[in-house]
Amino acid sequence: MMRMNRRGLVIVISAPSGAGKSTLCGRLVRKLPHIVNSISCTTRPMRPGEIEGRHYFFVSEEKFKAMIKKGEFVEWANVHGHLYGTPRKYLEKNIRSGIDTLLNIDVQGGLSIRAMFPDAVMIFVMAPSMKELERRLRGRKQDTDREIRKRLANARTEIRSLKRYEYLIINDRIPAAMRELEAILTAEHRKLAHLPNRYVQQIMT
Ligand code: ADP
Ligand code: 5GP
Repeated sequence: MMRMNRRGLVIVISAPSGAGKSTLCGRLVRKLPHIVNSISCTTRPMRPGEIEGRHYFFVSEEKFKAMIKKGEFVEWANVHGHLYGTPRKYLEKNIRSGIDTLLNIDVQGGLSIRAMFPDAVMIFVMAPSMKELERRLRGRKQDTDREIRKRLANARTEIRSLKRYEYLIINDRIPAAMRELEAILTAEHRKLAHLPNRYVQQIMT
């Protein structure tokens, strides 16, 4: 097996809240050992069952703003009234070390990442319908009715940016969505643009 020393892929997964991206990202990193999740910082309150440093780094608004000033985020955005940001150091280290990193972030963040990393793999996940999206948000029992209505309104706005992504996955049945995600990642690994020149030279020896 040839050693490739390629740079790690930046994989952006965006989806309206409730479409299932946390579920899919969680399964993907458990299944594929060469992929890790980027853990964002957020000012939103912790939900029941969430773990500090695993789901998010939960910080105060004051701390978050100080981090913005120090340039500690590659991107940050206000989503549903709370601040969310992708830590810079972890992502840049992974890219250099050849580790693929999943960024489960909103559309604004996704587009900022694509502007900074033109090779980023841009994946959009959606539930089969708005009705099913609402059913999942209510089934999750983590948000108030007001919060859910806000998330559904945001979903309509986010879907308008769909064409700025490269891939669409309809998360109807989880196993099928997982197979599609894995197929995308396999194809991305084979893209010549993502392979170091050395790899191509080696096959000519
Ligand atoms: P997101 O991270 O996009 O907000 P979650 O991963 O939290 O969404 O999923 C929202 C809810 O829908 C969760 O309760 C999850 O268990 C459920 N869910 C995720 N994928 C599916 C699916 N394919 N079919 C049915 N329910 C799903
Ligand atoms: P939730 O509060 O449901 O965990 O996430 C709400 C939204 O914030 C989701 O769309 C999620 O993808 C997005 N999000 C999470 N982390 C980040 C981040 O670091 N940057 C941006 N721009 N969005 C994020």
